[in-house]
Amino acid sequence: MEQVVKKQHQFFNSGKTLDISFRKEQLQKLKNILQNHEQEIYEALDEDFQKPPFESHATELFVLYQEIDHLLANIDRWAKTKKAQSSLINFPSRSYIKPQPYGVTLVIAPWNYPVQLALNPAIGAIAAGNTVILKPSEHAPHTSGLLATLINRNFDSGFLYVEEGDAETTQSLLSKPLDYIFFTGSTHVGKIIMKSAAEQLTPLTLELGGKSPTIVDQSADLSLAAKRIAWGKFINAGQTCVSPDYVYVHTSQHKQLCRLIQQEIRSFYGDDPSQSKDYARIINDKHFNRLTNLIDHDKVFFGGDTNSKRRYIEPTIMTEVNWDDAVMRGEIFGPILPILSFSELDGIISLLQKKSKPLALYLFSTDTNNQKKVMNKLQFGGGCINDTVAYLGNINLPFGGIGNSGFGVYHGKTSFDTFTHPKSIMKKGNWLDISLRYPPYKGKLKWLKKLTKFL
Ligand code: NAD
Repeated sequence: MEQVVKKQHQFFNSGKTLDISFRKEQLQKLKNILQNHEQEIYEALDEDFQKPPFESHATELFVLYQEIDHLLANIDRWAKTKKAQSSLINFPSRSYIKPQPYGVTLVIAPWNYPVQLALNPAIGAIAAGNTVILKPSEHAPHTSGLLATLINRNFDSGFLYVEEGDAETTQSLLSKPLDYIFFTGSTHVGKIIMKSAAEQLTPLTLELGGKSPTIVDQSADLSLAAKRIAWGKFINAGQTCVSPDYVYVHTSQHKQLCRLIQQEIRSFYGDDPSQSKDYARIINDKHFNRLTNLIDHDKVFFGGDTNSKRRYIEPTIMTEVNWDDAVMRGEIFGPILPILSFSELDGIISLLQKKSKPLALYLFSTDTNNQKKVMNKLQFGGGCINDTVAYLGNINLPFGGIGNSGFGVYHGKTSFDTFTHPKSIMKKGNWLDISLRYPPYKGKLKWLKKLTKFL
């Protein structure tokens, strides 16, 4: 590991990554590798948690292809040195901003979208001219192993390298000299990463999780809301950082929404979702046990069936829950959907203002006043009006959290910016040197005041 970090510093210092055509070649190469191994990637994801190939393509590979294409089409423009307006106080001079890569970056990934969340930040880092050490999650071992094989076989380890391992490996990597850390994972581990980064004052991005609410008001198109909520919640078996964690629906429509979501579950996965090839499994026994403990069978409206051998949890709707219930005390991160009710939208807004700022928030409403009110008054990383999760498909939207759900953004242009330091440079002319700024200052203050009035 020590050798790899050293090699990456040498590689970066050689200046190779400053060449835009080198960055483009590497991105294109990565895309070709993924395209040539799609079947193996589907299989690894299937072995790790029975992820359906359709979801593997839509939420992992397609996202990466789109990101690579977008960056390839724009790097030349984004990487250009940009002129900045000069200030009179520095006359005669010219000023410019030079986008500069940080250097050696460490990308730490979670297990829930194990290809996409590992490679998407890496793509941004490469486009911006950095080298990358990638630490995938040990909880998706087949995917992690495949990533290590595909990357380490095809790239110079001084430029891009996959280091497999667990928390200990990450800790060891964090103790090495790094120039940028990009972490995706839980809020708890995010705090540990930030403490380590503080030791060497390494800049970082934290992409964390949390409880993302969904609000359905009286004006909502209820059937469409039910379909889009069920899709966003049960894709990847609820193991999605931006999945609707819980729903607040107007009291008058509570029963009906529960019934409609139940119908959608049936239409997506059939009468027995355990037989459906379109429904993923829970990643490991630890998470399976954690999730089954959140299900209070007295409060199950629909579902609740589990099978420990197959790590299967039926898409489950819970009602009559309150904030003291286990299911409401932390991020669910699984296929359990509590549906609560409200009578006044203002009441829900003030309740949510007191909670941790979530990564996502979804509002189902056709009332523009309510839309404005919720979007203005509540703080959250990002979200949708009248949909769930799908905003991630728009590469022009920055993605990231706020407060407990993290800080910093990426995707598209913001990925390039995240991994770039905007270096400010002023080039001064030598033909004039006004002496006002130099000591001794005697008699100069009044001139300074006069002059600064005109600046
Ligand atoms: P996690 O925090 O347990 O692990 C993430 C990574 O950190 C893994 O690579 C792991 O090996 C490493 N790690 C774990 N403990 C560590 C420690 N003590 N020191 C150093 N490294 C350590 O997260 P997870 O279980 O893989 O993922 C689920 C969480 O991630 C959820 O909270 C989810 O909301 C969040 N998430 C956020 C996003 C986002 O984009 N904001 C995306 C996916 C998941």
